[in-house]
Amino acid sequence: MTDYRSKSWWLESLPEAITPNPALTGRQTADVAVIGGGYTGLSVGYHLKQLNPDLDVRIIESDVCGYGASGRNGGFSMTLFGLTKGITKFRFNDHKARAAHIYMENAVDYLHEVITENNIECQYEKSGYLLVGTSPGQVRRVEHDFKIMEKWGLGGVERWDRTRLAEEFHTDFYKIGWFEPRCGILNPARLARGMKKLAETQGAVIYENSPVKRFGRKTGGGFMVKTEHGVLESDYLVLATNAYSVLFPELKKLQYPAFTHIVMSEPLTPEQYDAIGWKNRAGVEDARDLIHYYRLTADNRIVMGGGDVSLGYGADLDKDLNEQTFAHLKAHVTEVFPQLEGLRFTHQWGGPVSITTDMAPVIGYLGNDKKAIFSMGCIGHGVSLTTYNGKTIAELITGRQTERTEMFFVGRKVFPWPPDLITYGLGHAVRGFMKLEDRLYYK
Ligand SMILES: Cc1cc2nc3c(=O)[nH]c(=O)nc-3n(C[C@H](O)[C@H](O)[C@H](O)COP(=O)(O)OP(=O)(O)OC[C@H]3O[C@@H](n4cnc5c(N)ncnc54)[C@H](O)[C@@H]3O)c2cc1C
Repeated sequence: MTDYRSKSWWLESLPEAITPNPALTGRQTADVAVIGGGYTGLSVGYHLKQLNPDLDVRIIESDVCGYGASGRNGGFSMTLFGLTKGITKFRFNDHKARAAHIYMENAVDYLHEVITENNIECQYEKSGYLLVGTSPGQVRRVEHDFKIMEKWGLGGVERWDRTRLAEEFHTDFYKIGWFEPRCGILNPARLARGMKKLAETQGAVIYENSPVKRFGRKTGGGFMVKTEHGVLESDYLVLATNAYSVLFPELKKLQYPAFTHIVMSEPLTPEQYDAIGWKNRAGVEDARDLIHYYRLTADNRIVMGGGDVSLGYGADLDKDLNEQTFAHLKAHVTEVFPQLEGLRFTHQWGGPVSITTDMAPVIGYLGNDKKAIFSMGCIGHGVSLTTYNGKTIAELITGRQTERTEMFFVGRKVFPWPPDLITYGLGHAVRGFMKLEDRLYYK
């Protein structure tokens, strides 16, 4: 198995090395089996036990909890549902897109609450989220988002002009800013490990080093999940494998994995930090098609991600590293902050995000009895969303009806991806189009 530490600096720099939990062995039974130990699976486990302590809940993770996107991401707790507000509005309608935004606002607030109430030491900073327009095309996009929010009658966002931006950042790069104070940044691997501890404290059982080979329905009802050394039988099944869902024939066509990449610098010296400003420490994204996302760590390293994506063929999940994208990201740091010329970069990594055909998240069912539930399609916006979805899924399993379980994306139909060759070609065509648009309009 690949050493989890090689998968991101967040995982490498955890305060304590991970000793994996024992693997699943023998024949076991549970009320609920959860496949996948990222934020989704761990949150389902935590919330199920909270709602009904008598439930026997078991989570099966192929490596260690947090090995997937949850231990590698940018750590932005943000409100974006799907790719953009405009696309979500176009795909569904104004009413649903507005409801999705409110769900996401609640998700961000809720994640902060879970972290605070349970003392999860994940370096959470409620420093806000700043979407910047860095070119006339991007400015138009940010203005468009402001108009959508105005039409929806929603607040929670500040418009920053160049003067306001200059108070926070020493760069000429930013022309307009959309600032959302409720958002935050955190250390993603620490959050994942904290959620694991929380789920276990609540009474969920977690198996690590247990890749699931297959799952299926038993004759007479219930499910059977098989790993190399064990079998888990359950009444309910939760598929929380996100981009890795491509490994299972039952889920493969519902989403497609794309890889996004990150570079990380050495810690800034006090002089370097003074030179760039960024005193409010907000997580920043630009408004390109292939966005850049960047932030500071607790010890003032710059994390810069995005800029491009890598696409695999079929079930290829081996696209963690892309030297061209890493070079682009390093160069972009000094494009935004020329004061940092010569800054050294110490780490680089990548991870898979899950994409549905309509770029929108889904909580769905396999079969009509609603006993096998999956969650996927959170793209690069799943930190708060997946944690909140875990609560929603737990409510569905325990038969509760809440504002979350009634959301339009619960049980919605997902259009399947076409056969691998077409999906691969389509993916590259869309990526090529986005690159071209960025070059022509959004540079
Ligand atoms: C580089 C990167 C940057 C990102 N930045 C942000 C960001 O800043 N903000 C944001 O909101 N979102 C971001 N995201 C997205 C976010 O990380 C994800 O949406 C979220 O972590 C998904 O959580 P999950 O639990 O659904 O999936 P994952 O964390 O991927 O968990 C799935 C788990 O399933 C396990 N698994 C796989 N196969 C098997 C098997 N056969 N048997 C058992 N277990 C299996 C995996 O090991 C993994 O632990 C980013 C993602 C990446 C990759």
